[in-house]
Parts: sequence; C-alpha cells; structure tokens
Amino acid sequence: MLAIGMYKGKPGAHKLDLPKPEITKPDDVLIKVKQAGVDGTDFNMIKHNLQDPAEGQDKIVMGHEMVGVVEAVGNDVKTIAVGDTVVLTVRRGCGICQPCLHNQSDMCMTGLYTERGIHKKDGFFTEYIVDQEQYAIKVPNDVADMAVFTEPLSIAEKGVEQIRLIQSRMPWACEHPNHSFDSQDWGKCKTALVVGAGPLGILATALLRLADVFTYVVDIVQEDSPKVHLVKHMGANYIDGRGKSAKELVDFCCTPTDNLDIVFEASGAAVTAVELINYMSRSSIYVMTGIPRQEIRTELDAAQLVRQIVRNNQVVVGSVNSNRSHFEMALKHIPQIEKRFSGMLKEMITHRFGLADHDRIFDLSDTSRLKTVIDITG
Ligand SMILES: [Zn+2]
Ligand SMILES: [Zn+2]
Repeated sequence: MLAIGMYKGKPGAHKLDLPKPEITKPDDVLIKVKQAGVDGTDFNMIKHNLQDPAEGQDKIVMGHEMVGVVEAVGNDVKTIAVGDTVVLTVRRGCGICQPCLHNQSDMCMTGLYTERGIHKKDGFFTEYIVDQEQYAIKVPNDVADMAVFTEPLSIAEKGVEQIRLIQSRMPWACEHPNHSFDSQDWGKCKTALVVGAGPLGILATALLRLADVFTYVVDIVQEDSPKVHLVKHMGANYIDGRGKSAKELVDFCCTPTDNLDIVFEASGAAVTAVELINYMSRSSIYVMTGIPRQEIRTELDAAQLVRQIVRNNQVVVGSVNSNRSHFEMALKHIPQIEKRFSGMLKEMITHRFGLADHDRIFDLSDTSRLKTVIDITG
C-alpha cells in the first residue's frame, strides 16, 4: 500500500510502498483511511529536515490528522464495530507516569511518549492503519464529512479548556455570576486576542466565537486574504499586524480601562509572543500553542516582567497535544461550528491532494494555503 514518509537523514517527503498492516492483538482495530490532514508540524518536518523514526527504523510515515472507516476488529473490541467512522488520537503514553496511565498522555511527565506521524511512530498518510481500540474514537454520522478537523480542533479545545480551568480561580470576572469561566456562558463579557490566523488560530477563534467571546485576530496578511474572510465570517475582528508593535496590537483590542481577558498564541512568532506578555491585562491568561523552531534572541527587562506577572496575578501557560476528552469535545463542536458559521470548515480547505502527490503536497513556496487535505480512499 501507498504511504508518504521521510527517510532518516534524507530531506523531503517520499513515496513509500508498505505491506498492509494486520490485526495482531485482540484489542486491535484495522482502519481504512479516508482522509488525512496536513498541518504546520508536517510542513516544519519538511522545512527543517526533521525525521524521527522509531529505534532501528530508517523511515517514518508522516501524518497525525485522519478519519477512516473500520474494516476489521480484534476479538476483544467492544466499543467499535466494522463500518464505523473513527478518528485516532496521536500520542501514545510512556506507560510509566500517572497522567499517561490515566488517559492523559498529553500531560506526560517523563517525555518518553511517542506520537504517530511525528515522534517514533508511523503516522496516517497511508491507506490502512492498525491501532488499539482505546485510541480510536467513534465519529457520529453527522460529523463524518468534517471529521478530518477533529485532531486540529482538539488542540484548540485543550487550549480553551486550560483557559477555563485556570481562570475559574476568579468567578467574578464580570458582574454576571453566570458568566464565570466554569459556566455554560463563560465567553460572555470577555475579550480575546488570537495571534496567528493559520488553521489553529482560526479553529481557536471558532471556539471563542462559539462561546461569544469578543475576539480579535492578528496576522500579517492583507485584508483580502481568505484567512481574513474566515475571521470576519465568524464575527471576529481582524488586525493587520504588519508594522505594529506588541503594544499597538493590544491598544487596538482594548482601551486602557478595558481588560484583555485572553491571549491565545497560535503563530509561534517568538519575539512578538514574548513581547505581548508585557501588555497583558490584570488577572488575565495567556495560552501559548505555537512552537518556534529556530533560535531567536531578544532583550527584555526581566525585573519588569517578573514584577508585572506577580503584581497582576497573570498566568502564562503552554498547551500542547490533546487527549481523548479533547477529541470528544471537538466532535461535539464540529456540527455547532458548521451550523453557526455555515460552511466555515469547508472553506478552510484550500488544497486537496492524493497520496500519489507526495512531491506537490509540501510546496513551501505556496503561501495561499490554509488547510490541506489528502483524500486517500473513497
Ligand atoms: Zn508519561
Ligand atoms: Zn458578564
């Protein structure tokens, strides 16, 4: 069967011919992959020549976003049946730490986890996959069309969950008791700045807008970009960040008396990401999800930074990966997003390829793309 992967020490994406995997354990599930999503991590693997195959292997199959249909199940599989549409989580726990032993490998404490398609485990840019039942999540029928967004949306879900969990420390964020961060209407009376209008920034915006958070999105593209169209379609405000300092960005979102309750960093632009900390509002939260690759040095006033974070009760939190609970949240929100911002997820898909297009999928010169999907089997 066909697959797309990288060889150790060899740049670029390559076509692989692999044997079809088989069920070997009683809790195994054999999945025919229908679609796979390509994201910034995949592009970074190509751009920065990062290959991380399993020990003793010379290659790794790429891809960590997928949806497929179950073709066969092992004898002990109970929750999933042949014909079900499923998505798979990405990280496989270390088997040692307590979070991993309790289905929370996204918070692994040893760093000894693996990740399908990224870190020491083959991924999803292929025709068939075998994995264990515990990592497969059944997709409701009305979500199947857009289920390829489950994994990227789960990353945004975890970021928003961190914000709500941590900020529930402050039940009286506004005068309405039913607007506390742990309530259903948590987004009301809140303002957020999303940094970066790539797929993750757009999906984070969708969740914030779904909760009625007053949302600004900053990127460095022109007003006529498809990204900006999506931002406005969701009722968020676009800020063209070109030539603007971090202070000007925040001034744009709020007058000095207003609070910027949430900053959601999804660009990985390290210098701006750090500078923005200086302009955080009192008692606010800043979640970082973008991962810069190069070494970037900058100067900062360390005393001012520490003083400000202490005096203003500020939280800066990192959020990476996601677990099964975030996939379940994403599957619940996908139809709500499609209903509220009709056609928005479809519009995000700017490029479609097949598995045979391995040399065109990662065209790094094409800056017009937002979301790339690989259609694998019909
Ligand atoms: Zn662990
Ligand atoms: Zn309120």
